[in-house]
Amino acid sequence: MIDLPVPARLRLDTAALVANWRALDRLSGPAACGAAIKADGYGLGAAGVAARLAEAGCRDFFVATWAEAVALAPLELPLAVLHGVRTEDMAAALSGVARPVLNTATQVARWRAAGGGACDVMVDTGMNRLGVSLDEVGAGLLDGLAIDTLMSHLACADEDSPMNAAQRARFAALAGRVGARRMSLANSAGIALGADYGFDLTRPGLALYGGVPRPEMADLIRPVATIEAQVLQRRRVEPGETVGYNATWTAARATEVAIVNLGYADGYWRGFSDRGVARAGDAPLAVIGRVSMDLVALDIGGAALEEGDWIAIRHDLPAAAAVSGMSQYELLTGLGQRFERYWR
Ligand SMILES: *Cc1c(COP(=O)(O)O)cnc(C)c1O
Repeated sequence: MIDLPVPARLRLDTAALVANWRALDRLSGPAACGAAIKADGYGLGAAGVAARLAEAGCRDFFVATWAEAVALAPLELPLAVLHGVRTEDMAAALSGVARPVLNTATQVARWRAAGGGACDVMVDTGMNRLGVSLDEVGAGLLDGLAIDTLMSHLACADEDSPMNAAQRARFAALAGRVGARRMSLANSAGIALGADYGFDLTRPGLALYGGVPRPEMADLIRPVATIEAQVLQRRRVEPGETVGYNATWTAARATEVAIVNLGYADGYWRGFSDRGVARAGDAPLAVIGRVSMDLVALDIGGAALEEGDWIAIRHDLPAAAAVSGMSQYELLTGLGQRFERYWR
């Protein structure tokens, strides 16, 4: 096969990922700190993320589906599948590649009927997304199950909402009632709500990858991903000429422009049109005009950029979210399949 280097890469920072996990582990107090690596490690590559966090000491990993779990099987991680077991999942679930997180009475019955061993259970404490109800738990639905971790999920942890304390209180009231080995409530934002929210195990995702769900975390969390893309053409645009689709940007003066191999098909969204900023060394390069599917135009000012040179876009997620109108989660999980992902 021909080795064909791609013109766009994601540079991923091992030290930042590990530092973020250690910061979240510290903030989790006596609780263990796990890692949500669903959606291919929030777009950064689940296997690469998991190997590094396992090496750092992380012992609890969460994916959404059995396909994600099976893909990670060679790493032999302590893994739980958040969406539980459909009929179609039972063969994979019984293979022991991961524990299911049972979410419904039907899933509980299915797991029991199969002779179900260790499992986790999600209980709904007010989000009305996944999970068995408190009434079902009270009526004995979980009696006799071998529950490793009883978990619930916060709906509003990234806000100062009365929902947080209400959900926490409902969850805390289950302590000692279902024979679970551990209890787990907090996602990234929940960890910042304080020690009361830690229970035995926390489940951060976003903040591991450089996301900042609450301002308290801003100084603790480091960006992990940097987009790198290659210049395909350099051109001079004369005063009054326009750049890109729909001619939304007009040159006020003669402008040196680089056309770069990056677009919304890579997850560099249209919301960065006329607003994004790339860098060549320290020099900021403004995005001008519409972001296209595979290309973006940059005003390079006086930078000495030529065809084949690389520009960088440090994915500072809170800032990028504010600029683009996308959530920090979407900015990560939308990072496309055309990038070469490499860790340093
Ligand atoms: C995705 C997910 C997490 C991680 O949430 P973040 O906000 O990314 O930290 C934790 N728990 C459950 C149940 C999830 O679905």
